[in-house]
Amino acid sequence: MPDEIVKILLTWYDKNQRILPWRMVDGNVPNPYLVWLSEIMLQQTTVPTVIPYFYRFLEKWPSISDLARASRDEILHAWQGLGYYNRAHKLHECSILISQKYNNIFPSTYNNLLLLPGIGPYTAAAISSIAFNQPVPVVDGNVERLMARLYALQIPKKDIKKRSTEILQLFPLNHRPGDIAQSMMDFANSICTWAKPKCLSCPLKNHCKSQKLGIAEQLPKREVKKKPTRYAYFLCIERNHDKAFLFYKRPLKGLLPGLMGFPSTNWQPHAWPDAPAFYSQFLPNHDNIQWIDTPIQHTFTHFYLEARVGKYVASNSIINYVPFPNMQWIKSCNINKHALPTLMKKVAKTCGIVC
Ligand code: SF4
Repeated sequence: MPDEIVKILLTWYDKNQRILPWRMVDGNVPNPYLVWLSEIMLQQTTVPTVIPYFYRFLEKWPSISDLARASRDEILHAWQGLGYYNRAHKLHECSILISQKYNNIFPSTYNNLLLLPGIGPYTAAAISSIAFNQPVPVVDGNVERLMARLYALQIPKKDIKKRSTEILQLFPLNHRPGDIAQSMMDFANSICTWAKPKCLSCPLKNHCKSQKLGIAEQLPKREVKKKPTRYAYFLCIERNHDKAFLFYKRPLKGLLPGLMGFPSTNWQPHAWPDAPAFYSQFLPNHDNIQWIDTPIQHTFTHFYLEARVGKYVASNSIINYVPFPNMQWIKSCNINKHALPTLMKKVAKTCGIVC
C-alpha cells in the first residue's frame, strides 16, 4: 500500500504542484539556501504571508554569504511583522556559521544539518530531502493530518508526528524523496484540508482508512487549549520640540528579542498592574499622561496581551533625558528605519504616530 500511495501522490503532484518561488520545476533540485530560507520563514507562518518576505530577503541578500555579512539589525528590520523573532536571530547565526565554517556550502545530511542554529528535526528533514534528495521522512502539520487520516490514527495530537514518521519510514522514499515530501504537503493543503476534505474526488480514497470509517473530518484529534491573558501599560513619550519618541531596545533574550519597543510595565497575569511606580521611572510629572480609553489587544502564541496606552508630551526640560542606556529618542520620520514588531506598530498607531 505505501508504494501505491506514493505513486498516486507523485502523479497528482506532477499535475498540481504549487508554483512557489523557492521551488524548482522539471525535476531540478533547488538551491539549499532558498529551501532553508523558506523553511525557516514558514515555521508557524503561512505561504501567502511568507512570499513577500522571501522575495525581499533574496533581493537584499541573494546568497548565504550576503546574508552572513548583514547586521543583526538589518535582518530584524527586514523580518519585522513576520513574528517569532528568534527565527531571525538564528537565521543570522546560521548564515555566519555556514559562511565561516562550511565555506558557504550547506551540509547535506540530516545529522549535520541538525547541528546548525535554528534547525530542528523537521527543518533538517525538509532541507535534506528537498535540497539534497535524501530519503528522510518530512512531517509538518499538513503531513501529520494526511497520515492521521490515511491510517485513521485516533491518538493524541502530540503523538501523531512520531507515529507518522514511523509509518513514513516504511515508504519507498529513495526515488524523488523531495517531491514525495512536497507532494504530501501540497496534497494535504488542497485536497485533504482541515475543514471539508475533498474525499469524494480524492485519488487516495481507496487507501484511506478514516474515509472508510467515516471519521476523516474528526482526525487528527484537536486539543483545545485556553490561552491566558496578560496585561500591561505602555507609554508613548513624545519630545515636544522635534516630534521624537522614546524607545528602548528589547533584550536579546525573551519575547521580541532585539526589537525596538515603547517603554512598558511587565506583562502580568492580573488586570492592570500597579502603574505609578512605572511612570515615575521615566517622567518627572506623570499627571499629564493622556490615557487612551480603548486598550490594545494582541495575540501571541501562548497568550493574549491587553495593553493600555498612555501618551505624554514632554517639555523642553527633558530634551536630552534618556532614563536607561538601552533607550533612545527616535524622530517619527526615522521610526521606519528601525525594526518594530506588530504590537509596537499598534501602540504607535493608537497614539497617532505616523511611521
Ligand atoms: S479520502 Fe479524504 S481524508 Fe482520506 S486522504 Fe483523501 S481527502 Fe484525506
